Amino acid sequence: MSNQNSQPRFNAIQTVISRKSKIVEAPKDEKGNTLKISDFYGINTFSLKQMKQKLPNDIYKRLVQTIQSGKKLEIEVANVVAHAVKEWAIENGVTHYTHWFQPQTGTTAEKHDAFLSIDSSGSPMERFSGSQLIQSEPDASSFPSGGMRTTFEARGYAAWDPTSPIFIADAGSTRTLCIPSVFISYHGDALDEKTGLLRSNEAITNRAIKLLNLIGDKGVTSIVTNLGPEQEYFLIDRAFYALRPDLIMSGRTLVGARPPKGQQLEDHYFGSIPSRVLTFMTEVEYELFKLGIPSKTRHNEVAPMQFEVAPIFEDSNVAVDHNHVTMEVLRRIAKKHDFEVLLHEKPFAGVNGSGKHNNWSIGIGTGPLELEGINLLDPGKTPHQNLRFLLFLMATLKGLHKHAGLLRAAIASPGNDHRLGANEAPPAIISAFMGNMLDNMLNEIEKDTHQSLDYKEVVIKLGVSKLPTVMKDNTDRNRTSPFAFTGNKFEFRAVGSSSSCAFPVTIINCAVADALDEITTQLEAKMKTAKSTEEAIFAVVKDAIKETKNIRFEGNGYSDDWVKEAEKRGLPHLKTTPEALHEIESAKSIKLLTSLGVFSEEEVKSRFHVRIEIYNKKLLIEAECLQTMAETQILPAAYQYSSILAQGVAALKAAGISAPQAEPLTKLNQVLASAQTELKKLERITASIFALENEEERASKIAAELKPQMEALRKECDALENHVADDFWPLPKYREMLMLS
Ligand code: ADP
Ligand code: MG
Repeated sequence: MSNQNSQPRFNAIQTVISRKSKIVEAPKDEKGNTLKISDFYGINTFSLKQMKQKLPNDIYKRLVQTIQSGKKLEIEVANVVAHAVKEWAIENGVTHYTHWFQPQTGTTAEKHDAFLSIDSSGSPMERFSGSQLIQSEPDASSFPSGGMRTTFEARGYAAWDPTSPIFIADAGSTRTLCIPSVFISYHGDALDEKTGLLRSNEAITNRAIKLLNLIGDKGVTSIVTNLGPEQEYFLIDRAFYALRPDLIMSGRTLVGARPPKGQQLEDHYFGSIPSRVLTFMTEVEYELFKLGIPSKTRHNEVAPMQFEVAPIFEDSNVAVDHNHVTMEVLRRIAKKHDFEVLLHEKPFAGVNGSGKHNNWSIGIGTGPLELEGINLLDPGKTPHQNLRFLLFLMATLKGLHKHAGLLRAAIASPGNDHRLGANEAPPAIISAFMGNMLDNMLNEIEKDTHQSLDYKEVVIKLGVSKLPTVMKDNTDRNRTSPFAFTGNKFEFRAVGSSSSCAFPVTIINCAVADALDEITTQLEAKMKTAKSTEEAIFAVVKDAIKETKNIRFEGNGYSDDWVKEAEKRGLPHLKTTPEALHEIESAKSIKLLTSLGVFSEEEVKSRFHVRIEIYNKKLLIEAECLQTMAETQILPAAYQYSSILAQGVAALKAAGISAPQAEPLTKLNQVLASAQTELKKLERITASIFALENEEERASKIAAELKPQMEALRKECDALENHVADDFWPLPKYREMLMLS
């Protein structure tokens, strides 16, 4: 018979160890035959393929023009599309539609409306007009705006983004038509994450086309930025989750003694996937495929119960939406399999955290046939292609070099603070990894002072002609770099697992667009004196190599030496979220973002304020949750066990027998006393932060005082876990949550 305290926990253990995998049925045709993925891929989206089938030819063409070159959508087109979408949705059992958008909370928002309307004679009918498709009018008052609108003028519009496919969200018995949308204020300010991304794609498009024109690649009409986000996550059984207020409230464990067997064994990585998890993954993939999300890989990650899912890369705007949907599908399907998915960057202390590698590249969308689809970060085969590659490579490095602080800010979040610089994730210092051979080549190009060489000789002498083979062989990986070149793309590895990719990609796009501007100007100047375009390109590349040398780092990003070295190089090292966020509203960032037309100054400032507020809110929730757990679960368990020990000691002493439990009792009471002291301190600090009006002051105090105090209290709580008898402990332990499923 166990103690009452631990009864729920022991019941949960029983439940978990007797769980069986659920049965997941593969999608079938009418005859009951299992379908191939390609047969049901995208059936829940109103994709181009669907549109082509359902729309009159000229309407289809006009819509495609809007999608591919951003031409404004006319209302006649919208009306026809709306009708077709409605018919398709109703055929598929949909009753409601929603403009699905991404407020700055990092998640998604929706407000459902039925297609139902009542006509003048009082008869019900399904209706959906072009204007309803194009725009909705939700009440925006409860979404964060960073002070851009006050509540009394809280009118925000969600406007359809036709470049991302409309889809059906399937929640079992209800199916809702989701219309990917931007979310803007009455005055047109971006209140969301998508608007900035779309504007940044436009900014980089114009600049890339200008540079391409200059080097002779003429006639390009659209540029795409590609994104492939690798999503890491943890699964824990719902029976355990329900007993952990910290997981419920904050998505991470605020207490918990580290297990003796954890990821130190590192036997989980690429190991076989537990069958219960595999069934879950299979169902997730069915859902993703139906939504036209090209889920490609699934595997175990470093820590126990940590996994990854990664899609084939897509246009960044679509990829961002798809990543949001993926996170949503993971959450929903996990529950069906009695799991809870943890997307937090650091759910378990002392155990590997989760990130979301953002694989980014830039390519040509539409234009002359021979240029369409070219990845501009692919070295190609000819000397011209090699030089073009070097230009875009250097543009990325220049952007990174000049705006490293802003890029750091773009990934700042309370969750990511636990990861960055914690020897498991790239450090909070932004640097770029090139790979040995490319690094050497850049060094060679930089060193050469032989200005008089003919361009063709230079290409041969400095090894530029070797680029294609270099890239193919260049498979070395450096997991410690926050921004690594991996053959034909950059991998921004410092992004947190729970965050939206929208802002990080927006900032990369802006930084690179800015650098493309500079490069174009420099090239125009050099072309006036150089013997050939190629020679001029070469000279610009060389200057850029020199300029960006500081941001390149090939070594171990986890080492203390790198922190010192980076400081010598003058690279920003912004350790906490509040520190990093100030980069967003720096004069340099405001200039960058406003000059590209991506954000107004007010929009930039609102982004800073929203993020600071979210930081404060999340950490204050954590602090209060930790206090409550200490007060109502952890300390009471320790008091009870202490009094049992004390009774034993008293009884034995009364009988004149020595009482060995006096020693653990003394130790336990010491820890208990320290825990009480730390709890009181934490309560004082929390109260003093609540008393502050100014959000920035709150944030500084949270980083400087609250977080360390939470750690101090946690230390005592974890010590108590190791001093209190197991059957008095109410909270599922690390070993149970991580090792039993
Ligand atoms: P890994 O980094 O684990 O070796 P991959 O290189 O296959 O794996 O790709 C990881 C992610 O990068 C995938 O989502 C993939 O689609 C994406 N990716 C591959 N090529 C590109 C590219 N040119 N641009 C953007 N993303 C890409
Ligand atoms: Mg990768």
